[in-house]
Amino acid sequence: MQSTMMATPLSLNHLLERAGQLFHRNQIVSRLPDKSLVRHSYGAFHRRTRALASALQQLGLKKGDRVATLCWNHHAHLECYFGVPAAGGVLHTLNLRLSPDEIGWIAGDAQDRFLVVDDVLLPLYRQFAGLHRFEKVIVFPFSGADVAPEFENYEKLLAGADPERFTYAEHGEDDPVAMCYTSGTTGRPKGVAYSHRSTILHTLVASLGDFWGLRGTDVVLPVTPMFHANSWGMPYGAVMMGVKLVFPGPHLHPDDILDLMQLEPPTLSLGVPTIWLSLIQAYDAAQKPDSPNHGRWKLPRGMRSLVGGAAVPEALIRAFDQHGIWIEQGWGMTETSPVCTISYPRAELQGASDDEKYRRAAMAGVPVPLVDLRVVGDAGLQPWDGKSVGEIQVRGPFITGSYHQVPREPGKFTDDGWLRTGDVASVDELGFVRITDRTKDLIKSGGEWISSVDLENALMAHPAVAEAAVIAIPHEKWGERPLACVVLKKGADTHPGDLNAHLQQRSFAKWQLPERYEFIEAVPRTSTGKFWKLKLRQMFPE
Ligand code: ADP
Repeated sequence: MQSTMMATPLSLNHLLERAGQLFHRNQIVSRLPDKSLVRHSYGAFHRRTRALASALQQLGLKKGDRVATLCWNHHAHLECYFGVPAAGGVLHTLNLRLSPDEIGWIAGDAQDRFLVVDDVLLPLYRQFAGLHRFEKVIVFPFSGADVAPEFENYEKLLAGADPERFTYAEHGEDDPVAMCYTSGTTGRPKGVAYSHRSTILHTLVASLGDFWGLRGTDVVLPVTPMFHANSWGMPYGAVMMGVKLVFPGPHLHPDDILDLMQLEPPTLSLGVPTIWLSLIQAYDAAQKPDSPNHGRWKLPRGMRSLVGGAAVPEALIRAFDQHGIWIEQGWGMTETSPVCTISYPRAELQGASDDEKYRRAAMAGVPVPLVDLRVVGDAGLQPWDGKSVGEIQVRGPFITGSYHQVPREPGKFTDDGWLRTGDVASVDELGFVRITDRTKDLIKSGGEWISSVDLENALMAHPAVAEAAVIAIPHEKWGERPLACVVLKKGADTHPGDLNAHLQQRSFAKWQLPERYEFIEAVPRTSTGKFWKLKLRQMFPE
């Protein structure tokens, strides 16, 4: 017997058409380089996206061709998210925080044919233009300045195209729609290509009530860059549900984000922990009566915040909860589309104490539907007992099975077809994953593992500590010992003895305490805004 269902391929084009039909009055707001706001309706988004797709085809885009973007978060970038696949192309979001050499190399590896670039980012483009030749460079006049004749003008292309006469490129659901590169913390960056099918399934799963819980009445502020694992897939979810989007453009300083929150109060926001750490510091500093920012900001009570990309300190979750903002943690990777787990209040936790609630929220969360997750230790598969640790391995329809041009990357896939994440974790009886480290960040002291993530979280709960990152330093007797790099809050003071006493109160054993403390001005950040441990290891090699 055969199923009687239609074999309609899953497709991003459906989301685009649906948005044009259903949500034409809902808004997409973007912050421009001069900090003013520009508003587009979903109706305009639908027309403009089809016009972009039509223009790309007129320029000679063929099926499977890569169109790179070098753009901040704004409405035109969203148009590329849907317009490039609608024309049959593959959107490749370049990470503008990488070095020009790296960007040039990545564009070459992906064989990008066209580039869409913000006019304000042309100076960066010029630094890697010699490393890879794009056939067409399309400049988005984000600042409103004139576009030089050597380039295509994004707005003129759209104005000259006919969205009504456009026909979608034919495709199957496994055809690629977008690609991102891993950050390259281990070796060269590697390309991951998402399909219509993987993107739709990821969008549906991530939007479910217990995960993002997207509603048409939401106002979403994506601080996560659209070049960082597709802003975690939120642009697709937002278009699917027609939610109001508020794009911060190039203005990611905490003061700017807080200003934007006053203009367009969000109900949902997303970003890496370092963003929210600096935001709460700026907000707290502004509460002092002598602060120049006193009275300038209110935090949007009732907002939910999706935070991930790195471990979320419990202290951060508690601090925001005091202001009526709930942080939901997610874990994933560029390779996994990216959402694999999200922490949410399970039915079993109703009536649990606040401490228990916070403890769970500080975990990476529970695997989302369609993701199989296992933990593999030296002795094989680990039980879900909350204690046994090993490497997380995942598999599922939105998890990559290989890399672009590298079908068999050594050490990344198991013989039975699971992705090796390089993250070390335990899982408890309710399915909550607790990440203890990345394999390369683990500290092995006298044959025992010390979790840098646990130490960091505990240190960041100390009232004088703004940020803490812990790395391994070589040690003659113990092999490795922890070094804690600590950033103090403005005007605060403490010393190693006090910090150690604080850790011991939180049941760290003596041998787990940092060997040494370094008080630093700021923790260096990676291109996606996370603590950059590799850099710290270079700063403190011994
Ligand atoms: P990179 O961090 O190398 O720039 P990704 O953005 O793909 O690249 O990040 C994936 C990695 O981020 C994961 O393998 C994991 O180490 C880390 N990560 C993501 N979310 C969390 C989380 N909630 N807790 C701890 N680590 C996380």
